[in-house]
Amino acid sequence: MSRSVQAKAVVIGSGPGGYVCAIRLAQLGVSTILVEKKDLGGVCLNVGCIPSKALISASKLVSQIREAGEMGIHVSGLEINLKEMIEWKGGIVNKLTGGVEQLVTRNGGSIVRGMATFTGPNSLDVRADDGSVTKVGFEYAVIATGSTPAEIPGFSFDGENVLSSSHVMEFSEPPKKLAVVGGGYIGMELGSVFQRLGTHVTVIEYADRILPGFERDLVRPVEKRFTGAGGTVLTGTMAKGWKKSGDGVKIQLKKLSGGDIPDLEADAILLTVGRRPTSGNLGLETIGVKVDNKGFIEVDGAQRTNLDNIFAIGDVAGEPMLAHKASKEGEVAAEVIAGHPAQFDLKAIPAVVFTDPEIASVGMTRKEAQEAGHKVATGKFSFGANGRAMSLGETEGFVRVVIDKDSEVILGFEAVGPEVSNLIAEGGLALEMGALATDVGWTIHAHPTLSEVLMEAANAALGQAVHAVNRK
Ligand code: FAD
Repeated sequence: MSRSVQAKAVVIGSGPGGYVCAIRLAQLGVSTILVEKKDLGGVCLNVGCIPSKALISASKLVSQIREAGEMGIHVSGLEINLKEMIEWKGGIVNKLTGGVEQLVTRNGGSIVRGMATFTGPNSLDVRADDGSVTKVGFEYAVIATGSTPAEIPGFSFDGENVLSSSHVMEFSEPPKKLAVVGGGYIGMELGSVFQRLGTHVTVIEYADRILPGFERDLVRPVEKRFTGAGGTVLTGTMAKGWKKSGDGVKIQLKKLSGGDIPDLEADAILLTVGRRPTSGNLGLETIGVKVDNKGFIEVDGAQRTNLDNIFAIGDVAGEPMLAHKASKEGEVAAEVIAGHPAQFDLKAIPAVVFTDPEIASVGMTRKEAQEAGHKVATGKFSFGANGRAMSLGETEGFVRVVIDKDSEVILGFEAVGPEVSNLIAEGGLALEMGALATDVGWTIHAHPTLSEVLMEAANAALGQAVHAVNRK
Protein backbone atom coordinates (compact mmCIF):
# COMPACT_ATOMS: atom_id res chain seq x y z
CA MET A 1 0.00 0.00 0.00
CA SER A 2 1.38 3.45 -0.77
CA ARG A 3 0.21 7.06 -0.72
CA SER A 4 1.82 10.33 -1.83
CA VAL A 5 2.13 13.63 0.03
CA GLN A 6 3.83 16.89 -0.83
CA ALA A 7 5.28 19.70 1.31
CA LYS A 8 7.68 22.58 0.83
CA ALA A 9 9.96 21.16 3.54
CA VAL A 10 10.49 17.72 5.01
CA VAL A 11 12.47 17.19 8.23
CA ILE A 12 13.87 13.69 8.84
CA GLY A 13 14.25 12.86 12.55
CA SER A 14 12.35 14.36 15.49
CA GLY A 15 15.12 14.91 18.07
CA PRO A 16 15.85 18.38 19.48
CA GLY A 17 17.30 19.34 16.08
CA GLY A 18 14.46 18.04 13.91
CA TYR A 19 11.44 18.90 16.02
CA VAL A 20 12.64 22.45 16.70
CA CYS A 21 13.33 22.90 12.98
CA ALA A 22 9.87 21.55 12.04
CA ILE A 23 8.09 23.77 14.57
CA ARG A 24 9.98 26.88 13.44
CA LEU A 25 9.34 26.07 9.75
CA ALA A 26 5.62 25.72 10.43
CA GLN A 27 5.63 28.96 12.46
CA LEU A 28 7.26 30.71 9.49
CA GLY A 29 4.42 29.56 7.24
CA VAL A 30 6.35 26.83 5.41
CA SER A 31 4.33 23.66 4.73
CA THR A 32 6.26 21.01 6.69
CA ILE A 33 6.29 17.26 7.21
CA LEU A 34 8.28 15.77 10.10
CA VAL A 35 9.32 12.12 9.61
CA GLU A 36 10.23 9.88 12.56
CA LYS A 37 10.95 6.14 12.54
CA LYS A 38 10.88 5.62 16.33
CA ASP A 39 9.65 7.78 19.20
CA LEU A 40 9.01 11.51 18.80
CA GLY A 41 11.64 13.55 20.62
CA GLY A 42 14.67 11.52 19.48
CA VAL A 43 17.50 10.48 21.74
CA CYS A 44 17.35 13.59 23.91
CA LEU A 45 13.78 13.21 25.14
CA ASN A 46 13.51 9.41 25.17
CA VAL A 47 16.88 7.96 26.20
CA GLY A 48 19.28 10.91 26.55
CA CYS A 49 19.29 14.32 28.21
CA ILE A 50 15.91 14.26 29.93
CA PRO A 51 15.65 10.71 31.34
CA SER A 52 19.30 10.77 32.42
CA LYS A 53 18.79 14.05 34.26
CA ALA A 54 15.64 12.69 35.92
CA LEU A 55 17.63 9.73 37.26
CA ILE A 56 20.50 12.03 38.26
CA SER A 57 18.14 14.25 40.30
CA ALA A 58 16.43 11.30 41.98
CA SER A 59 19.71 9.59 42.87
CA LYS A 60 21.24 12.88 44.09
CA LEU A 61 18.27 13.27 46.41
CA VAL A 62 19.10 9.84 47.83
CA SER A 63 22.68 10.85 48.58
CA GLN A 64 21.61 14.24 49.96
CA ILE A 65 19.26 12.50 52.38
CA ARG A 66 22.01 10.08 53.39
CA GLU A 67 24.47 12.93 53.94
CA ALA A 68 22.11 15.31 55.76
CA GLY A 69 23.22 14.20 59.25
CA GLU A 70 25.47 17.25 59.56
CA MET A 71 22.35 19.45 59.20
CA GLY A 72 20.65 17.53 61.99
CA ILE A 73 18.50 15.47 59.66
CA HIS A 74 18.62 11.76 60.37
CA VAL A 75 16.56 9.44 58.22
CA SER A 76 16.17 5.78 58.87
CA GLY A 77 14.44 3.17 56.75
CA LEU A 78 15.22 4.90 53.44
CA GLU A 79 13.86 2.68 50.67
CA ILE A 80 14.69 2.95 47.00
CA ASN A 81 12.32 1.41 44.50
CA LEU A 82 14.08 1.68 41.14
CA LYS A 83 11.03 0.37 39.27
CA GLU A 84 8.95 3.30 40.60
CA MET A 85 11.79 5.73 39.88
CA ILE A 86 11.90 4.50 36.26
CA GLU A 87 8.10 4.90 36.00
CA TRP A 88 8.36 8.48 37.31
CA LYS A 89 11.07 9.19 34.73
CA GLY A 90 8.81 7.65 32.04
CA GLY A 91 6.03 10.09 33.01
CA ILE A 92 8.33 13.06 32.37
CA VAL A 93 9.39 11.61 29.01
CA ASN A 94 5.77 11.04 27.96
CA LYS A 95 4.76 14.58 28.89
CA LEU A 96 7.58 16.06 26.82
CA THR A 97 7.20 13.79 23.79
CA GLY A 98 3.43 14.45 23.78
CA GLY A 99 4.28 18.16 23.82
CA VAL A 100 6.41 17.74 20.68
CA GLU A 101 3.50 16.20 18.77
CA GLN A 102 1.17 19.02 19.84
CA LEU A 103 3.64 21.78 19.05
CA VAL A 104 4.35 20.45 15.56
CA THR A 105 0.72 19.85 14.60
CA ARG A 106 -0.81 22.92 16.32
CA ASN A 107 1.68 25.13 14.53
CA GLY A 108 0.45 23.64 11.24
CA GLY A 109 3.05 20.93 10.51
CA SER A 110 2.25 17.24 9.99
CA ILE A 111 3.97 14.06 11.11
CA VAL A 112 4.62 10.89 9.08
CA ARG A 113 5.80 7.81 11.00
CA GLY A 114 8.41 5.51 9.45
CA MET A 115 11.91 5.20 8.08
CA ALA A 116 12.87 7.78 5.45
CA THR A 117 15.09 6.94 2.46
CA PHE A 118 15.88 9.37 -0.34
CA THR A 119 14.77 8.27 -3.81
CA GLY A 120 15.84 11.51 -5.52
CA PRO A 121 16.85 15.10 -4.72
CA ASN A 122 13.17 16.08 -4.27
CA SER A 123 11.62 12.83 -3.13
CA LEU A 124 11.83 10.22 -0.42
CA ASP A 125 10.02 7.10 0.71
CA VAL A 126 8.84 6.63 4.28
CA ARG A 127 8.37 2.98 5.19
CA ALA A 128 6.18 2.38 8.25
CA ASP A 129 6.50 -0.62 10.58
CA ASP A 130 3.48 -2.27 8.87
CA GLY A 131 5.32 -2.12 5.52
CA SER A 132 3.18 0.67 4.02
CA VAL A 133 5.08 3.36 2.12
CA THR A 134 4.41 7.10 1.99
CA LYS A 135 6.02 8.87 -0.97
CA VAL A 136 7.01 12.41 0.06
CA GLY A 137 7.75 15.10 -2.50
CA PHE A 138 9.57 18.21 -1.22
CA GLU A 139 11.42 21.36 -2.23
CA TYR A 140 13.74 21.31 0.80
CA ALA A 141 14.84 18.50 3.12
CA VAL A 142 16.50 18.79 6.52
CA ILE A 143 18.40 15.71 7.73
CA ALA A 144 18.26 15.49 11.52
CA THR A 145 18.84 11.78 12.04
CA GLY A 146 21.12 12.14 15.07
CA SER A 147 23.49 9.49 16.34
CA THR A 148 23.69 6.04 17.94
CA PRO A 149 26.01 4.62 20.63
CA ALA A 150 29.40 3.46 19.33
CA GLU A 151 30.87 -0.01 19.89
CA ILE A 152 34.55 -1.03 20.12
CA PRO A 153 36.30 -4.26 19.07
CA GLY A 154 35.28 -7.11 21.38
CA PHE A 155 32.28 -5.22 22.78
CA SER A 156 28.92 -5.35 20.97
CA PHE A 157 25.67 -4.36 22.67
CA ASP A 158 23.57 -7.40 23.58
CA GLY A 159 21.21 -5.82 26.11
CA GLU A 160 22.25 -8.28 28.82
CA ASN A 161 26.01 -8.22 29.36
CA VAL A 162 27.14 -5.25 27.26
CA LEU A 163 24.70 -2.40 27.70
CA SER A 164 24.24 1.00 26.06
CA SER A 165 23.09 4.14 27.86
CA SER A 166 19.55 3.38 26.64
CA HIS A 167 19.53 -0.10 28.23
CA VAL A 168 20.51 1.07 31.73
CA MET A 169 17.68 3.61 31.80
CA GLU A 170 15.25 0.73 32.07
CA PHE A 171 16.96 -1.24 34.88
CA SER A 172 14.41 -2.51 37.41
CA GLU A 173 17.06 -3.17 40.06
CA PRO A 174 20.49 -1.59 40.49
CA PRO A 175 23.27 -4.10 39.69
CA LYS A 176 25.70 -4.92 42.50
CA LYS A 177 28.76 -4.26 40.32
CA LEU A 178 28.82 -2.24 37.11
CA ALA A 179 31.85 -1.73 34.84
CA VAL A 180 31.64 1.48 32.84
CA VAL A 181 33.87 1.38 29.77
CA GLY A 182 34.45 5.02 28.74
CA GLY A 183 34.75 7.82 31.29
CA GLY A 184 33.27 10.63 29.19
CA TYR A 185 30.25 12.61 30.30
CA ILE A 186 27.63 9.92 29.59
CA GLY A 187 29.63 7.23 31.41
CA MET A 188 30.34 9.45 34.41
CA GLU A 189 26.76 10.77 34.68
CA LEU A 190 25.14 7.33 34.47
CA GLY A 191 27.89 5.61 36.48
CA SER A 192 27.29 8.16 39.26
CA VAL A 193 23.53 7.49 39.21
CA PHE A 194 24.05 3.81 39.96
CA GLN A 195 26.79 4.50 42.45
CA ARG A 196 24.38 6.71 44.42
CA LEU A 197 21.81 3.89 44.28
CA GLY A 198 24.27 1.49 45.89
CA THR A 199 26.10 -0.14 42.95
CA HIS A 200 29.89 -0.55 43.04
CA VAL A 201 30.96 1.21 39.85
CA THR A 202 34.36 0.86 38.15
CA VAL A 203 35.14 3.30 35.34
CA ILE A 204 37.69 2.17 32.75
CA GLU A 205 39.12 5.05 30.74
CA TYR A 206 41.74 4.92 27.96
CA ALA A 207 42.92 8.54 28.49
CA ASP A 208 45.00 9.61 31.48
CA ARG A 209 41.92 11.02 33.22
CA ILE A 210 38.14 10.81 33.22
CA LEU A 211 36.25 13.56 31.34
CA PRO A 212 39.32 14.21 29.18
CA GLY A 213 37.61 17.09 27.34
CA PHE A 214 37.84 19.29 30.43
CA GLU A 215 40.79 20.90 32.26
CA ARG A 216 42.33 18.76 34.98
CA ASP A 217 41.41 21.06 37.88
CA LEU A 218 37.73 20.98 36.86
CA VAL A 219 37.69 17.19 36.85
CA ARG A 220 39.52 16.68 40.15
CA PRO A 221 36.55 17.43 42.48
CA VAL A 222 34.34 15.05 40.48
CA GLU A 223 36.85 12.21 40.65
CA LYS A 224 37.43 12.92 44.36
CA ARG A 225 33.71 12.72 45.15
CA PHE A 226 33.22 9.61 42.97
CA THR A 227 36.12 7.65 44.47
CA GLY A 228 35.38 9.03 47.95
CA ALA A 229 31.91 7.46 47.71
CA GLY A 230 33.45 4.08 46.88
CA GLY A 231 33.76 4.19 43.08
CA THR A 232 36.90 3.02 41.28
CA VAL A 233 38.58 4.84 38.39
CA LEU A 234 41.09 3.03 36.17
CA THR A 235 42.67 5.56 33.81
CA GLY A 236 45.26 4.81 31.11
CA THR A 237 43.51 1.45 30.83
CA MET A 238 42.10 -0.40 27.85
CA ALA A 239 39.22 -2.87 28.00
CA LYS A 240 40.44 -5.65 25.67
CA GLY A 241 37.51 -8.05 25.77
CA TRP A 242 35.13 -9.88 28.07
CA LYS A 243 33.74 -13.32 28.74
CA LYS A 244 30.77 -14.67 30.64
CA SER A 245 31.52 -15.57 34.26
CA GLY A 246 28.70 -17.08 36.33
CA ASP A 247 25.75 -14.66 36.16
CA GLY A 248 28.04 -11.78 35.26
CA VAL A 249 31.08 -10.93 33.17
CA LYS A 250 34.86 -10.92 33.46
CA ILE A 251 36.61 -8.09 31.60
CA GLN A 252 40.22 -8.34 30.41
CA LEU A 253 42.13 -5.12 30.94
CA LYS A 254 45.45 -3.76 29.73
CA LYS A 255 47.37 -0.94 31.40
CA LEU A 256 48.68 1.32 28.62
CA SER A 257 51.89 1.99 30.56
CA GLY A 258 52.54 -1.79 30.57
CA GLY A 259 52.25 -4.33 33.35
CA ASP A 260 49.54 -6.80 34.19
CA ILE A 261 46.21 -5.87 35.63
CA PRO A 262 43.76 -8.46 36.97
CA ASP A 263 40.48 -9.19 35.16
CA LEU A 264 37.53 -7.19 36.45
CA GLU A 265 34.38 -8.99 37.56
CA ALA A 266 31.04 -7.22 37.19
CA ASP A 267 27.34 -7.95 36.73
CA ALA A 268 27.29 -6.02 33.45
CA ILE A 269 29.24 -3.61 31.27
CA LEU A 270 27.96 -0.14 30.41
CA LEU A 271 29.74 0.81 27.18
CA THR A 272 29.92 4.60 26.73
CA VAL A 273 32.76 5.19 24.30
CA GLY A 274 31.09 7.83 22.14
CA ARG A 275 28.40 8.11 19.50
CA ARG A 276 28.32 7.70 15.72
CA PRO A 277 26.30 9.83 13.29
CA THR A 278 23.24 8.11 11.77
CA SER A 279 23.93 8.84 8.12
CA GLY A 280 24.12 5.33 6.65
CA ASN A 281 20.39 4.57 6.52
CA LEU A 282 19.19 7.38 4.30
CA GLY A 283 20.28 6.56 0.77
CA LEU A 284 22.52 9.64 0.72
CA GLU A 285 24.65 8.02 -1.98
CA THR A 286 21.56 7.98 -4.26
CA ILE A 287 21.42 11.76 -4.29
CA GLY A 288 25.14 12.51 -3.76
CA VAL A 289 25.14 14.23 -0.33
CA LYS A 290 28.74 14.42 0.91
CA VAL A 291 29.69 12.68 4.15
CA ASP A 292 33.15 12.87 5.81
CA ASN A 293 35.25 9.85 6.81
CA LYS A 294 33.52 9.62 10.22
CA GLY A 295 30.04 9.65 8.68
CA PHE A 296 29.18 13.28 9.54
CA ILE A 297 27.30 15.17 6.82
CA GLU A 298 29.31 18.19 5.65
CA VAL A 299 27.46 21.53 5.97
CA ASP A 300 28.17 25.24 5.53
CA GLY A 301 27.29 28.06 7.97
CA ALA A 302 23.65 27.98 6.80
CA GLN A 303 23.49 24.19 7.53
CA ARG A 304 23.35 23.51 3.76
CA THR A 305 24.96 20.33 2.42
CA ASN A 306 26.69 20.20 -0.98
CA LEU A 307 23.16 20.02 -2.47
CA ASP A 308 21.44 23.43 -2.42
CA ASN A 309 18.06 22.14 -1.22
CA ILE A 310 19.28 19.62 1.37
CA PHE A 311 20.27 20.72 4.89
CA ALA A 312 21.69 18.79 7.86
CA ILE A 313 21.57 19.65 11.56
CA GLY A 314 22.37 18.19 14.97
CA ASP A 315 24.53 15.17 15.80
CA VAL A 316 24.58 13.97 12.18
CA ALA A 317 26.11 17.31 11.11
CA GLY A 318 29.13 17.18 13.43
CA GLU A 319 30.51 17.87 16.89
CA PRO A 320 29.73 18.88 19.53
CA MET A 321 26.93 16.33 19.80
CA LEU A 322 24.71 18.34 22.11
CA ALA A 323 20.97 18.96 22.11
CA HIS A 324 21.17 22.76 22.35
CA LYS A 325 23.55 22.90 19.39
CA ALA A 326 21.13 20.70 17.40
CA SER A 327 18.18 22.99 18.22
CA LYS A 328 20.03 26.17 17.28
CA GLU A 329 21.11 24.60 13.96
CA GLY A 330 17.46 23.60 13.41
CA GLU A 331 16.33 27.19 13.85
CA VAL A 332 19.01 28.42 11.44
CA ALA A 333 18.03 25.88 8.74
CA ALA A 334 14.34 26.81 9.14
CA GLU A 335 15.05 30.54 8.79
CA VAL A 336 17.18 29.96 5.67
CA ILE A 337 14.52 27.74 4.04
CA ALA A 338 11.88 30.39 4.80
CA GLY A 339 14.03 32.89 2.89
CA HIS A 340 15.50 34.80 5.84
CA PRO A 341 19.21 35.60 6.20
CA ALA A 342 20.56 33.33 8.95
CA GLN A 343 23.87 31.72 9.87
CA PHE A 344 25.13 29.47 12.67
CA ASP A 345 27.37 32.31 13.82
CA LEU A 346 27.69 31.88 17.56
CA LYS A 347 30.65 32.66 19.74
CA ALA A 348 30.25 29.73 22.08
CA ILE A 349 28.31 26.54 22.76
CA PRO A 350 28.09 25.73 26.49
CA ALA A 351 29.02 22.24 27.66
CA VAL A 352 27.74 20.77 30.92
CA VAL A 353 28.45 17.55 32.78
CA PHE A 354 25.78 16.71 35.35
CA THR A 355 28.10 14.88 37.72
CA ASP A 356 28.51 15.58 41.41
CA PRO A 357 29.66 18.35 41.48
CA GLU A 358 28.64 19.58 38.06
CA ILE A 359 31.12 20.85 35.47
CA ALA A 360 30.29 23.58 32.95
CA SER A 361 32.24 25.60 30.44
CA VAL A 362 31.61 28.10 27.68
CA GLY A 363 34.07 29.83 25.36
CA MET A 364 37.85 29.46 25.55
CA THR A 365 40.01 27.87 28.20
CA ARG A 366 43.14 29.70 29.31
CA LYS A 367 45.25 27.49 27.00
CA GLU A 368 42.96 27.98 24.00
CA ALA A 369 42.99 31.75 24.53
CA GLN A 370 46.79 31.76 24.68
CA GLU A 371 46.97 29.61 21.54
CA ALA A 372 44.63 32.07 19.81
CA GLY A 373 47.21 34.80 20.49
CA HIS A 374 45.59 36.56 23.46
CA LYS A 375 47.51 38.01 26.36
CA VAL A 376 45.46 36.25 29.01
CA ALA A 377 44.38 37.05 32.56
CA THR A 378 42.21 34.75 34.64
CA GLY A 379 40.12 35.24 37.75
CA LYS A 380 39.06 32.39 39.98
CA PHE A 381 36.62 32.37 42.89
CA SER A 382 35.79 29.44 45.09
CA PHE A 383 32.34 28.22 46.19
CA GLY A 384 34.01 27.66 49.56
CA ALA A 385 33.89 31.44 50.13
CA ASN A 386 30.23 31.83 49.08
CA GLY A 387 27.55 32.01 51.74
CA ARG A 388 24.82 30.40 49.66
CA ALA A 389 27.07 27.44 48.78
CA MET A 390 27.74 26.97 52.51
CA SER A 391 24.03 27.04 53.31
CA LEU A 392 23.48 24.36 50.67
CA GLY A 393 26.31 22.25 52.08
CA GLU A 394 27.96 22.34 48.62
CA THR A 395 31.21 24.25 48.91
CA GLU A 396 33.41 22.20 46.58
CA GLY A 397 34.49 23.88 43.33
CA PHE A 398 35.15 27.24 41.70
CA VAL A 399 34.43 29.49 38.74
CA ARG A 400 37.26 30.68 36.52
CA VAL A 401 36.90 33.46 34.01
CA VAL A 402 39.37 33.93 31.15
CA ILE A 403 39.79 37.45 29.78
CA ASP A 404 41.96 39.26 27.24
CA LYS A 405 44.31 41.21 29.50
CA ASP A 406 44.56 44.31 27.30
CA SER A 407 40.92 44.79 26.31
CA GLU A 408 39.37 43.06 29.38
CA VAL A 409 36.96 41.29 26.99
CA ILE A 410 35.66 38.00 28.45
CA LEU A 411 36.83 34.97 26.45
CA GLY A 412 35.52 32.07 28.49
CA PHE A 413 34.14 30.66 31.72
CA GLU A 414 34.90 27.29 33.32
CA ALA A 415 33.22 26.07 36.46
CA VAL A 416 32.90 23.10 38.74
CA GLY A 417 30.49 23.17 41.66
CA PRO A 418 26.82 23.40 42.67
CA GLU A 419 24.32 24.44 39.99
CA VAL A 420 27.02 25.49 37.53
CA SER A 421 24.80 23.95 34.81
CA ASN A 422 22.48 26.92 35.34
CA LEU A 423 25.11 29.54 36.22
CA ILE A 424 26.97 29.03 32.92
CA ALA A 425 24.08 30.71 31.04
CA GLU A 426 25.32 34.09 32.30
CA GLY A 427 28.75 33.26 30.86
CA GLY A 428 27.20 32.42 27.47
CA LEU A 429 25.30 35.70 27.42
CA ALA A 430 28.45 37.63 28.39
CA LEU A 431 30.35 36.05 25.48
CA GLU A 432 27.60 36.69 22.91
CA MET A 433 27.30 40.32 24.10
CA GLY A 434 31.10 40.82 23.91
CA ALA A 435 31.02 41.74 27.60
CA LEU A 436 34.01 43.05 29.54
CA ALA A 437 35.00 41.63 32.92
CA THR A 438 33.56 44.79 34.50
CA ASP A 439 30.15 44.16 32.85
CA VAL A 440 29.79 40.95 34.84
CA GLY A 441 31.85 42.10 37.84
CA TRP A 442 30.00 45.39 38.32
CA THR A 443 26.50 43.98 37.76
CA ILE A 444 24.67 43.59 41.08
CA HIS A 445 24.08 39.88 41.70
CA ALA A 446 21.48 39.04 44.34
CA HIS A 447 22.79 38.01 47.74
CA PRO A 448 23.08 35.32 48.93
CA THR A 449 23.22 33.38 45.65
CA LEU A 450 25.65 31.11 43.87
CA SER A 451 25.75 33.63 40.99
CA GLU A 452 27.91 35.89 43.17
CA VAL A 453 30.76 33.46 42.46
CA LEU A 454 30.69 34.45 38.76
CA MET A 455 30.70 38.13 39.70
CA GLU A 456 33.61 37.65 42.09
CA ALA A 457 35.56 35.61 39.50
CA ALA A 458 35.13 38.42 36.95
CA ASN A 459 36.34 40.95 39.52
CA ALA A 460 39.22 38.65 40.47
CA ALA A 461 40.41 38.73 36.83
CA LEU A 462 40.83 42.48 37.35
CA GLY A 463 42.44 41.99 40.76
CA GLN A 464 39.30 43.39 42.45
CA ALA A 465 37.46 40.49 44.10
CA VAL A 466 36.06 41.72 47.42
CA HIS A 467 35.74 38.45 49.30
CA ALA A 468 39.25 37.24 48.47
CA VAL A 469 42.85 38.32 48.81
CA ASN A 470 43.69 39.44 45.29
CA ARG A 471 46.98 38.43 43.74
CA LYS A 472 49.10 41.44 42.73
P1 FAD B 1 18.52 12.63 17.89
O1 FAD B 1 18.04 13.12 19.17
O2 FAD B 1 19.50 11.52 17.86
O3 FAD B 1 17.24 12.24 17.04
C1 FAD B 1 17.34 11.69 15.75
C2 FAD B 1 16.02 11.05 15.40
O4 FAD B 1 16.06 10.68 14.02
C3 FAD B 1 15.74 9.76 16.17
O5 FAD B 1 14.49 9.84 16.80
C4 FAD B 1 15.76 8.68 15.12
O6 FAD B 1 14.83 7.64 15.37
C5 FAD B 1 15.38 9.46 13.86
N1 FAD B 1 15.84 8.85 12.61
C6 FAD B 1 17.08 8.41 12.31
N2 FAD B 1 17.14 7.96 11.06
C7 FAD B 1 15.89 8.11 10.53
C8 FAD B 1 15.32 7.84 9.27
N3 FAD B 1 16.03 7.36 8.26
N4 FAD B 1 14.00 8.10 9.10
C9 FAD B 1 13.24 8.62 10.10
N5 FAD B 1 13.75 8.90 11.32
C10 FAD B 1 15.05 8.67 11.52
N6 FAD B 1 22.99 16.55 25.14
C11 FAD B 1 22.92 17.70 25.83
O7 FAD B 1 22.98 18.78 25.25
N7 FAD B 1 22.76 17.69 27.20
C12 FAD B 1 22.69 16.54 27.91
O8 FAD B 1 22.56 16.57 29.13
C13 FAD B 1 22.77 15.32 27.21
N8 FAD B 1 22.67 14.15 27.86
C14 FAD B 1 22.71 12.98 27.16
C15 FAD B 1 22.61 11.78 27.86
C16 FAD B 1 22.64 10.58 27.19
C17 FAD B 1 22.53 9.30 27.95
C18 FAD B 1 22.75 10.57 25.76
C19 FAD B 1 22.77 9.28 24.99
C20 FAD B 1 22.85 11.76 25.05
C21 FAD B 1 22.84 12.98 25.75
N9 FAD B 1 22.95 14.20 25.08
C22 FAD B 1 22.91 15.37 25.79
C23 FAD B 1 23.13 14.27 23.62
C24 FAD B 1 21.81 14.60 22.93
O9 FAD B 1 20.85 13.62 23.27
C25 FAD B 1 22.01 14.67 21.43
O10 FAD B 1 23.03 15.62 21.12
C26 FAD B 1 20.72 15.10 20.74
O11 FAD B 1 19.68 14.20 20.99
C27 FAD B 1 20.93 15.21 19.23
O12 FAD B 1 19.77 15.63 18.65
P2 FAD B 1 19.44 15.34 17.12
O13 FAD B 1 18.18 16.08 16.82
O14 FAD B 1 20.62 15.61 16.28
O15 FAD B 1 19.19 13.77 17.00
